[in-house]
Amino acid sequence: MYEAVNKYRKAVDKHTIDQLIERSEKFRDKHIVCISSTYQGGGVAEMLNSMVPLFDDLGIDVGWRILHGSPDFFTVTKKFHNALQGEKINFSDLKRDLYYETNKRFAKFTHLYHDMVIVHDPQPLPMIDFYKKEQPWVFRFHIDISQPNPLVWEYLGDFIRKYDHMVVSQESYKKDDIPIAQSVIFPAIDPLSLKNRSIPENTVNRYLSRFGIYRDKPIVAQVSRFDKFKDPKGVMKIFNLVRKQRDCQLVLLGSMATDDPEGQKMYDSVLKEREKNVFKDDIKIIVVDNDILVNSLQRAADVVIQKSLREGFGLVVSEALYKQTPVVASNVGGIPYQVKDGVTGFLHDPYDVVGFSESVLKILGDSQLKSELGKNGKEHVKKNFLITRLILDWFDIFEHYLG
Ligand code: UDP
Repeated sequence: MYEAVNKYRKAVDKHTIDQLIERSEKFRDKHIVCISSTYQGGGVAEMLNSMVPLFDDLGIDVGWRILHGSPDFFTVTKKFHNALQGEKINFSDLKRDLYYETNKRFAKFTHLYHDMVIVHDPQPLPMIDFYKKEQPWVFRFHIDISQPNPLVWEYLGDFIRKYDHMVVSQESYKKDDIPIAQSVIFPAIDPLSLKNRSIPENTVNRYLSRFGIYRDKPIVAQVSRFDKFKDPKGVMKIFNLVRKQRDCQLVLLGSMATDDPEGQKMYDSVLKEREKNVFKDDIKIIVVDNDILVNSLQRAADVVIQKSLREGFGLVVSEALYKQTPVVASNVGGIPYQVKDGVTGFLHDPYDVVGFSESVLKILGDSQLKSELGKNGKEHVKKNFLITRLILDWFDIFEHYLG
């Protein structure tokens, strides 16, 4: 026990680790289950992959189940996801039935006898309807729900009201019409994961060159699923303005998540867009699920862009900042908690392509500014967005229900 958690002493302050060990004692041998819809791709899987073994190392028995859904089911839940972020939807009975029945079926072979159930995001939300509730149920919402489509919100809200607690990623996502306990937990990154740990320069170069990226000119990058809300085409527009004034290259790196059926379509259309681009030879579009490549690219990039139109939190921003790479990003969702304008990077209105390009050029042209922003970024993430703090925040919730 504590073998894993003690390794974090190198990355975080001693007090945090001592607190983790001390506070975990109360929950020793408690049995908790997390339910989500994918084990890879996207921020939820990223965090659970690190958190679950850490809880285990602290003596808390946390498990993780993955909802079994068909491609049709994930098409529907992606539409719900988009609608929660403000898009229109044809909210048919067929969609509702598929959603509800898939959860009902999954509940039949998922026995829940735990001390607490934590459900992540809307895909498995209706599970609660199919159990005699014998323990606290917590719903962990990871998306931007500040302006949801009212129909979808009303429908999903009826399930959320059956839970004991809702956790969101920032204060403004709390909901007045949900009369259950609500709290904010900021997401976090794992400083020791393959994706974030320090790696030697020659490994960085080897990984980049394996994917056709060479450090012969400055690198501007966005690492994100191919999703309309991550606006990869918008990133190309920014790059065009930058590239007209300065020789550099753009890398768009994305993986596919099993619960995101729109990824392939978006990827195809980004490839087409690239073909029309006058600077296409300087634009690399890569789809691969490779943590060391993400790590290498976030380290090697001179500037990371995150041009999201909506963003629940955006773990990729903290990942880049932690590697001392400045981030130029949209002033939406959880991003401004991470990018402090002029301190760890620059913030812009998501449609201000010119503003984005000016900030990128400013960083590319000033190595002192780049290193100052990078240094501040790492400090900021170390203080606020590491997985050890995330676990302490969960302890507050455990304390309330299991303490
Ligand atoms: N990610 C990855 N490979 C990629 C693109 C993304 O591993 O090619 C990871 C990324 O490093 C981050 C997560 O997926 O850990 C995305 O989380 P974020 O909160 O930024 O966005 P989400 O996809 O959950 O909307």
